[in-house]
Amino acid sequence: MLFRIALVSIGNEVLSGDTLNTNVRWLAEQCTALGAVITEHRTIGDDIAGIVETIAELRQRCELVITTGGLGPTHDDLTVAAMLELFADKLVLHQPTLEYIERLVAERGRAMTERLRMQAMVPASATVLPNRVGSAPGLLFDRSDGAAVIVLPGVPREMEHIMLESGLRWIAEHIASGGYEIIAEHVFVTAGVPEADLADRLEPLRTQLPPTVELAFLPSASGVRIRVRARGRPDAVRLLLDQAVEPLRAALGSAIVSENNERLVEVLQRECIARGKTVAVAESCTGGMLGMEITSVPGSSAYFLGGLICYADAVKIHFGGVRPETIARYGAVSQQTVEELAAYIRAAYGSDLAVAISGIAGPGGGTAEKPVGTVWIAVADGYKVVARQFQFGSDRHTVRARSCAAAMLMLLERLRTDERSTQ
Ligand code: ATP
Ligand code: MG
Repeated sequence: MLFRIALVSIGNEVLSGDTLNTNVRWLAEQCTALGAVITEHRTIGDDIAGIVETIAELRQRCELVITTGGLGPTHDDLTVAAMLELFADKLVLHQPTLEYIERLVAERGRAMTERLRMQAMVPASATVLPNRVGSAPGLLFDRSDGAAVIVLPGVPREMEHIMLESGLRWIAEHIASGGYEIIAEHVFVTAGVPEADLADRLEPLRTQLPPTVELAFLPSASGVRIRVRARGRPDAVRLLLDQAVEPLRAALGSAIVSENNERLVEVLQRECIARGKTVAVAESCTGGMLGMEITSVPGSSAYFLGGLICYADAVKIHFGGVRPETIARYGAVSQQTVEELAAYIRAAYGSDLAVAISGIAGPGGGTAEKPVGTVWIAVADGYKVVARQFQFGSDRHTVRARSCAAAMLMLLERLRTDERSTQ
């Protein structure tokens, strides 16, 4: 049997859509990584009876219920009251939490209030999971009459902190000591090959997988991640997974960009830094999106020098080194324009590699010859410039996101090609 976890998000602001429920995503990812299975997500309002009913019901069909939200000191924070009712429990003072809150209040130069003191009152049967980044501690109800319950604050930073400090360890230990089966996974990060083609390649292998191995295609603008999940006893599951992964790896071949479950931009960063190569960009239709994506990864300054946002033709000419005749003759979205841009930016910024993107993101601006979604991308190194044309469909956001991904993939291919030719 697997260790089953149900996630409950508590809060009217989550129900109404004012708050995007990022907590379930984070918790599901972390718990899955430990080998547990998430069987259910529930989102419910700030209402004691509803909270009691939901947790009571879920405890019948899983090993652990994790709740987030409604743990603070305001009138709409009802989770503790619900837990008292559910387990016929009473509040007791938790001295270490009180001392912690008093210290926090003193450090901030504020006065202790009754409302804050209440945060140190916890149900007698709960184990306190300390919160060192906020005032409301997490609570663990480890019970013999049904599933355990972990109660966490709604603020993502506090919730994550408590889980990383103590909650996840508790789950890992229970899975190990309880003789549960676990789920192990392997992720192939692919790019540049359409999902349907990948599915065709893998279909004969997929139908031969044992029932305890599951294959999923997770497409996004930057490519398709292929996730393989195997279920089994902890001492056997790795072998089962490895046996399933090996033929899939061979079938996917050069479509694989990474097997570390990284984002494409992280692969690019890792490989640029490993080779000591720097990168600059020239962006027209992506308007800085590629630079933003690259710099979203900590440590990007080790290889990314900067870039030019050359949306207007005049900027392509005056700051991007494109000759006016080139644009007049071939247009701003053309092989010639991106090649001149990439070569010029590489030299001007002094980078090892430069990439230039120019396309028609739409919804306006398309012609019969160059419809919306037409994108030219060029990569320059010191020796040559390589350009490619793409057709990314008609949705503006998709065109821009896929342009960024294609640019990163072309940079990556150039890095890897260089390596092969110098070996
Ligand atoms: P506090 O002590 O700050 O009151 P709390 O445990 O009472 O924390 P809530 O009051 O329910 O938590 O939520 C506090 C804030 O945390 C919300 O305004 C919201 O921004 C965020 N939050 C709550 N639930 C979620 C969720 N499921 N996903 C992401 N953010 C959430
Ligand atoms: Mg609150």
